[in-house]
Amino acid sequence: MTERVGIVVVSHSAPLAEAAVALALEMTPSDPPRVVLAAGTADGGTGTDAMRVAEAIGEAAADGGGVLVLMDLGSAVLSAEMALEFADVGETPVRLTSAPIVEGLLAAVVTAAAGASLDAVEAEARGALGAKSAHLVEDDAGPGADGGAAPSEGAGSAEAAAAGSVDATVEVEVRNRDGVHARPAALIVAALAGRDAKLRIARAGAEPVRVSGPTALLALGARQGERLTLSAAGADARAVLDELAALFADGFGEPIESAETSGTAGGDVAAPPDSDSGAAGAAPPPGTGRAAAPRAGRGAATDPRAGASLGVSPGRVAGRVVRMPGPVAEPPEGAALPEGEREAESQRVGEAADAVAEALRARAARAGEEGRAILEAGAAIAADEDLREAARGRIGAGAAAPRAVWEAFGEAAEALRAVGGRTAERAADVFDVRARIVARLTGQQPPGLPDTDEPYVLVARDLAPADTAMLDPGLCLALVTEEGGPTSHTAILARGHGIPAVVAARGAWSEPGGDSLLVDGSTGELVWDPPAELLASIAERVEAPPFDGTGRTGDGQRVPLLANVGKAGDAEEGARALAEGVGLFRTEFCFLGRAEEPSVDEQIEAYRGVLAAFPGKRVVVRTLDAGSDKPLAFVPTGEEENPALGVRGLRTSWVAPGLLDRQLDAIAAAAAQERAEVAVMAPMVATVAEAADFAERARARGIEHVGVMIETPSAALLADRLFDVIDFVSLGTNDLAQYTMAADRLLGSLAALNDPWQPAVVELIARAGSAGAAVGGGVGVCGEAASDPLLAAVLVGAGATSLSMAARAIPAVAAQLRETTLEQCRQAAEAVVAARDTAEARAAAAAILR
Ligand code: PEP
Ligand code: MG
Repeated sequence: MTERVGIVVVSHSAPLAEAAVALALEMTPSDPPRVVLAAGTADGGTGTDAMRVAEAIGEAAADGGGVLVLMDLGSAVLSAEMALEFADVGETPVRLTSAPIVEGLLAAVVTAAAGASLDAVEAEARGALGAKSAHLVEDDAGPGADGGAAPSEGAGSAEAAAAGSVDATVEVEVRNRDGVHARPAALIVAALAGRDAKLRIARAGAEPVRVSGPTALLALGARQGERLTLSAAGADARAVLDELAALFADGFGEPIESAETSGTAGGDVAAPPDSDSGAAGAAPPPGTGRAAAPRAGRGAATDPRAGASLGVSPGRVAGRVVRMPGPVAEPPEGAALPEGEREAESQRVGEAADAVAEALRARAARAGEEGRAILEAGAAIAADEDLREAARGRIGAGAAAPRAVWEAFGEAAEALRAVGGRTAERAADVFDVRARIVARLTGQQPPGLPDTDEPYVLVARDLAPADTAMLDPGLCLALVTEEGGPTSHTAILARGHGIPAVVAARGAWSEPGGDSLLVDGSTGELVWDPPAELLASIAERVEAPPFDGTGRTGDGQRVPLLANVGKAGDAEEGARALAEGVGLFRTEFCFLGRAEEPSVDEQIEAYRGVLAAFPGKRVVVRTLDAGSDKPLAFVPTGEEENPALGVRGLRTSWVAPGLLDRQLDAIAAAAAQERAEVAVMAPMVATVAEAADFAERARARGIEHVGVMIETPSAALLADRLFDVIDFVSLGTNDLAQYTMAADRLLGSLAALNDPWQPAVVELIARAGSAGAAVGGGVGVCGEAASDPLLAAVLVGAGATSLSMAARAIPAVAAQLRETTLEQCRQAAEAVVAARDTAEARAAAAAILR
């Protein structure tokens, strides 16, 4: 593990320290350092305590890079000095700093996050007031221009900069509304971390200033619209400047107020070179056929850059916007209420709790079976007289109603959590009801999905799988999220519900552009407050003819078309759509939100529900794919810095083998009680030994058909050897794209990379296809790629013997295959593998298949 500096904050006041830390962490792009508080006294009062500081120092030393201690005033300094005597840190250096507690902490956290040394972290922290003092003293020419603003070592000077050599230069424009403020500064520092590049920045007409930490960047005082010259020396100079140019061009991922005034950064790098659109600002190549591919279109009409919104579930609709609320804020403690006001305040609690209970009951009455139980449980909690009484007790002691509810319900939730087991799962319900009552008392929007019976377009920053699963497709016309990629679980569930969806829509939630929105889930186009003529143009969706139950190419090659399901209801829908079986049963979707492992009996019941829908047909049950983007509380994965590369999928059986064995017991028992032809497969396999171990466990239970998913490049390359130990493979193209392209599938900003049309991904699929063909083994595709009709034909050409997808996608895929011969599929696959990028791949496939 790399050594990192830990930080301790010593303050008389816990709320003060907590708020300072929260602010600093908000400004840290990712992976913050360890920050430990020693604030207030043990009984919640104001003051400092040397023993607590000593403990905090010990904790902060755990990452081995030294400890920086920031203090507020007076006895905090004395306590910190005394704590040095007791702190148990071995040889780890501990430094007390005179840095200011807010600005210093921010600078220290950002610098430590970038992996800097204790000296550098302290220098940045101590220099942190430079930006502010310079700003208040200097005029608009900018404090950084003369290099005298930031006294820290890291801030450097114009003289030093002038003395250095320059290997690369780039000009950029500041697009962010608030200029180069703390967050952009933090991202720049992160980009420099560990690289051989000495950066200098010059404002127009000024000398360059050496920058290596946030203080100097903030001291620049660069504003929106200003052009800056970035120059760098060192082996990584070019790469770093390209990265920084892309960050400036992208507004550091923040909403940019005015596209006209900001423009692009003068042709600097703004998009990954292998994005569909090529260079920034270029029009998409003609004839790519992208708009017709339901998964692949992006908002090319308005913004062809990579990172523009992506259509991930087809359909073109418009409707009023409902914005998914952010979290309800914790009410402050505030001063004690005068006695005369306490009675009325207590009444407010009763009224708000009644209203919440009533609203939840009304909603339960309208909800489907899945949501009803949860909503009714919430109504019962809101009506709980004990909880109300506990809140009234706090009001009697002087708390205002929102604070009293926050504390009383919070205490109850923590008590449930402490009990553990299924009881602990109810803690989340109590927290939810608490947020609803506090929202009502304080005039905030209640949390969770909107409570409305009018149709709406839901706009959210991101949606948890559990929220998406609760959406009512009858009311939710479309889904738009700022985060998420085409294979995020939001996208997968939206497609499953048949709800048009657009992801990676920058600013749609944080800066909504109107009250109504037109959403095109194929192209990614979004039009706020669409004019009447555009609304009139929303054509009825052209539905493919219904599937007749036999997937085949035009020349008769059989390609069974199967359904992807997460629970019995999906399987029933699949059966109604005449799916020829189930190619992927995501068992983890049965147990989202569960704190305890479901018993074998409970599992048998859940699995039987799916198997019962397909008597005599193949159902491929995937064992739990927990971890990473689908964390299950009962599956131990531990704290991981990089969960997508961590203990997930089959790897969880290394830390909890009993869990896999019990699941296989349950699958075998369910299979014995139903008539489906059951197969099992393991997710996230990388080696032959893993596959062999899985197969042995499954076969020991009498399960005959055993396979593994190909989701890692390693599994694709080893496919021929995997067939020695298993019967079939199934390509998880969502993860295969993620791991081949090294692009997190949840990140909207990387959506263009995370595209199964990437030639490298299709080449790996073809490799698995050849391995299967050589031994007559099944090669299924169950990732979202299979639901893109054009790509489905390419996959068949690459050797896929069955395709599995959301039931709603089957008719369009079936129709495309019917219009295509196997030979055309093969030619298309070859052309895609030979293409240079996704645009060329799509264009080549369309030319052959259409
Ligand atoms: C995949 O990775 O393509 C897949 C089908 O698995 P999941 O999307 O559930 O990770
Ligand atoms: Mg997967």
